[in-house]
Amino acid sequence: MQSSTTTQTLLKQAYDPELFRQQGHQLIDLLSDYLNAATQGEQMPILPWKQPDQQLEDWKADLAGPLLDQPFEFFQTLLKDSTHIHHPNCIGHQVVPPMPLSALPDLISAVMNNGTGIYEMGPVSNVMERLVCFWLADQIGMPAGTDGFMTSGGSLGNLTALLAARQALTGRDIWKEGTKEGKQLVIMVSEEAHYCVARSAKIMGLGEAGLALVPTDHENRMKSEELERLYADIQAAGQQVLAVVGSACTTSTGSYDPLEEIADFCDKYELWFHVDGAHGGAAIVSQKYKHLVAGMERADSLIIDFHKMMMVPALTTAILFKEPLTSFRAFSQQASYLLDEDEYHWYDSASRTMECTKNMMGVKLYMILRLYGNKVFEQFIDHTYDLAQSFAQLLKTSDDFELALSPQANILCFRYHPQGIEQEQLNSLNVRIRQQCIEDGEFYIVQTKIAGIHYLRTTIMNPFTELSTLEALLAHLRKLGQGLLHHL
Ligand SMILES: *Cc1c(COP(=O)(O)O)cnc(C)c1O
Repeated sequence: MQSSTTTQTLLKQAYDPELFRQQGHQLIDLLSDYLNAATQGEQMPILPWKQPDQQLEDWKADLAGPLLDQPFEFFQTLLKDSTHIHHPNCIGHQVVPPMPLSALPDLISAVMNNGTGIYEMGPVSNVMERLVCFWLADQIGMPAGTDGFMTSGGSLGNLTALLAARQALTGRDIWKEGTKEGKQLVIMVSEEAHYCVARSAKIMGLGEAGLALVPTDHENRMKSEELERLYADIQAAGQQVLAVVGSACTTSTGSYDPLEEIADFCDKYELWFHVDGAHGGAAIVSQKYKHLVAGMERADSLIIDFHKMMMVPALTTAILFKEPLTSFRAFSQQASYLLDEDEYHWYDSASRTMECTKNMMGVKLYMILRLYGNKVFEQFIDHTYDLAQSFAQLLKTSDDFELALSPQANILCFRYHPQGIEQEQLNSLNVRIRQQCIEDGEFYIVQTKIAGIHYLRTTIMNPFTELSTLEALLAHLRKLGQGLLHHL
């Protein structure tokens, strides 16, 4: 008896709206003060560095501690120990500092829990996803009839699109028959594409032979003139092309594949054209930079991560299909080849994706559109892409830094390269510079390897990062580099 009463008291407290009001007000105040400090570049370690094992031990001890009376101090610690994405000196991964406004519908999403799956689970959410996808299709200039939905991340989005491509191509009931029948299927994709495309091929059971890697040029763009030769090889081997994937842009260097030329090639041989626009597809909203994605409107399917260049929290990925039925067929669990237009309902998104329950993903973008329209996205793209150009200029004119390649997007790779140091030493020098840089916490940057050379990598994702920030970054890296050189 007694334990049941205790539980009920606890449950009552746990669901108390007045407590929530108090805690919520405190949290919003805390976050607003935090955002003020972070966006103004106040002194704070960008990534408060701890070894992973230490981090684990510290939180383990916390979890074993006595119960808390209130969550405020916990919120404070959580903020303090996390990576400070909104700080202008955070110039590392493709993680956007979300527009604070977009976190508020996420709060509603968390409270209401109207995730989609089927219409009745989230009536508004399902509709908004669709409207946001229509908006996107319209921006891109896709043909009438294009539609889409939202999914949990670009990786899952690419897999979802490729499953639809396979279903459209084979027309067989692979879910019943498995993948043994038929020809070896091959995805043609640039050697610089995101690893999730290769992973999708493996998940789909295509094996090692399931990928034909198209070579890239000196700017890491797909050499589209190689497509014909590779295609002939695939044909000669008795294999069949499942899809051609264009990257807009690549993850490591922000290089845009020539989408128009890939689309021509796909037209010629009637192949499925998929665009992985996870990062750079958003350039479509910019008058200045939309030329980079010319040809994207000809895709059979494409994805764009709104949580990258569209300023909303993760995960929020749009996936569009020129022929919407293809995506239903891929997920239909009975006799997919029989499905006809009367049997699907656009409003039950679970019939088109891996997920059953989802967040209310579309609401965030919808909210921004209602308050700011398209312009705010354009300003963001222009600011970050322009700044990458200026940063490249700065690097080109410096004596001791070397730019890997001219940026097309807001991703920039470079290295510290003082005179008279050998290649091998340069690699380890840059590895150590980066490690010191993140440990001392003044800036956060990442790294990548291009053709065996180790580069420092920055993604300019923050409206508060300015050219002066990047000048300070170089000065800081130079100082670290010079310090390390003394110990070589
Ligand atoms: C980030 C990225 C992905 C993966 O997207 P997630 O949302 O992290 O799953 C896929 N492709 C490209 C080109 C990317 O930049």
